[in-house]
Amino acid sequence: MIKPIPYSQVEINGGFWQQRQQLNHDVTAPSVYHQFDQTGRNGAFRCDWKPGEPNEPHFFWDSDVAKWIEGAAYILAQHPDAQLEAEIDQIVDDLAANQQPDGYFNIYYTVVEPGKRFTVRGNHELYCAGHLIEAAVAYAQATGKTKLLDCMVRYAELIDRVFRVEHSAAFDTPGHEEIELALVRLADYTGEARWLELARYFINTRGCSEKDIQNEKGDHTYNQSHLPVRQQRTAEGHAVRAEYLYCAMADLAARDGDQALADACHTLFDNIFERRMYVTGATGSSHYGENFTVDYDLGNLHAYAESCASIALAMFARRMEQLEPDGRYGDVIERVLYNGFLSSTSLDGKSFFYENPLEIRPALIGRNHCVHWNPRCEHFPITQRVEVFSCSCCPPNILRFMASAAGLLYSADEDARTVYVHQYMASSASFDFGGGTAHLTQETDYPVSGQVRLTWHGPDATLALRVPGWVRDWGEPTQRGYIHRTVTDGSVVELDFPMPVRFVTANPNVQEDSGRCAVMRGPVVYCMEAVDNGDNLRDVRLIPGTDAPAPSRCGLPAIAIDAVRRAPMDALYGDLRDRAFVPFRARLIPYFAFANRGKSEMLVWAQVQGAE
Ligand code: ZN
Repeated sequence: MIKPIPYSQVEINGGFWQQRQQLNHDVTAPSVYHQFDQTGRNGAFRCDWKPGEPNEPHFFWDSDVAKWIEGAAYILAQHPDAQLEAEIDQIVDDLAANQQPDGYFNIYYTVVEPGKRFTVRGNHELYCAGHLIEAAVAYAQATGKTKLLDCMVRYAELIDRVFRVEHSAAFDTPGHEEIELALVRLADYTGEARWLELARYFINTRGCSEKDIQNEKGDHTYNQSHLPVRQQRTAEGHAVRAEYLYCAMADLAARDGDQALADACHTLFDNIFERRMYVTGATGSSHYGENFTVDYDLGNLHAYAESCASIALAMFARRMEQLEPDGRYGDVIERVLYNGFLSSTSLDGKSFFYENPLEIRPALIGRNHCVHWNPRCEHFPITQRVEVFSCSCCPPNILRFMASAAGLLYSADEDARTVYVHQYMASSASFDFGGGTAHLTQETDYPVSGQVRLTWHGPDATLALRVPGWVRDWGEPTQRGYIHRTVTDGSVVELDFPMPVRFVTANPNVQEDSGRCAVMRGPVVYCMEAVDNGDNLRDVRLIPGTDAPAPSRCGLPAIAIDAVRRAPMDALYGDLRDRAFVPFRARLIPYFAFANRGKSEMLVWAQVQGAE
């Protein structure tokens, strides 16, 4: 069986990701904490809010803070930080003091609607519980402190009794998935099979419950309750909910050897991978319901592409790597990491996007005349990152994903004496392997270049190295995206993935991208911004073969490239024969770095000469 090597056994110790993890620790963690203080989220754990007071707790606040605790715990596991630890301990003390005698804990149903627990399927109680369980496990792993874990085990015991044994809640499965994957994690950490049994119950009951259909009117695809999970063939509904569910399905399939469940995971992954994922790895194209829509519906200007959905897809792909080693899972994780995930955060680490569009035209935003927020009205994503949202799921999710990125690099298959290298980051890993201890180091400036040097110390083994899907003409056959090298103690393996600038086309069914290309170098998607290239980016036509690296302040080179744009016209319409072009040198920056220099047009899918 292939097992992931956890983040705690891998240290990212240089290069691109070390800088970002440092920023995550130094800036993002305290900044998100501060915002959660200001908005009342941290204090809400004291459960002393009274009607009429400001900062009425929302039913998802527990989860926001839980994700912050989880992210902070990952940081603490590798970098002691007394202040961070004290902040967590205060929240844990408040939670423990306000946990109800039977184990229940939820801020909203304690102070805003007491007496109504487990009545509304869509109100995130079990979602909050799931995130608190994940935080509890992470904090116990990082510090050995089990106060939060003990609280959450008591809560899980209550949930088990109410849902699986007594069926006494008003619904059978949660409206927002998360607790399923958290319970698998709790089972793994505690060794208690009952938590896996409860996860199994929630997964197997979804889409089969008459009570759930009655409890919640409307479209049951929204929370993946339209079919039993093993019969689901397309990614439907709210993208984050869907992908968290698929994570838990893959977890359970791996632990139970459940082939029908694994088959469903493959089919759902294929549907996303082949038809419903942006070139940035983002998913969920519609802001209405934060939903997957239909195949190839990948609009750029209105792309919803929630940061949490990018993270959730990477989490799903990471679990699929356990079911079968196939390089496309690592490809998806890499696509998310360098694009749809990284774009979520400003270069200073302080501000965040919830939505990550692939095109911005600030002038158009004025045409949206809806005074009040209306889910059916035309919607444009915001053009500048902000420090906190009223629905602030993304910032702490970004914190925890960044802090645990080292857990994406490796897996080990003891039976085949094989170690899989899924991602390339400067790092050093130590883990039990083959009856001894293995040390694997990576020296690389990836993705500035594609040069990687791996050094192995430990028992004889095979290294399975992912050849990124964007590499053309590798010159050596790969096995499902991997090449294999036999290593003995002291072996060095060197790789060099060529990284020319590429012009990527979309499937013809993606009508929005018709006749256009996305410029990529290695795993990184590039974009144009008006601040470099002037307005009206849709009219710019790039000329392949003229590119050169250019300076940039985001850690990766920009690309300078020859381009033309049409000469200005006075009339609204003209004759093709009168068309004239003006040459200029365009500048493209990594997509993740957009919107760091004020409001500006931005475009990923550009016209390319010869691509018409
Ligand atoms: Zn989010």
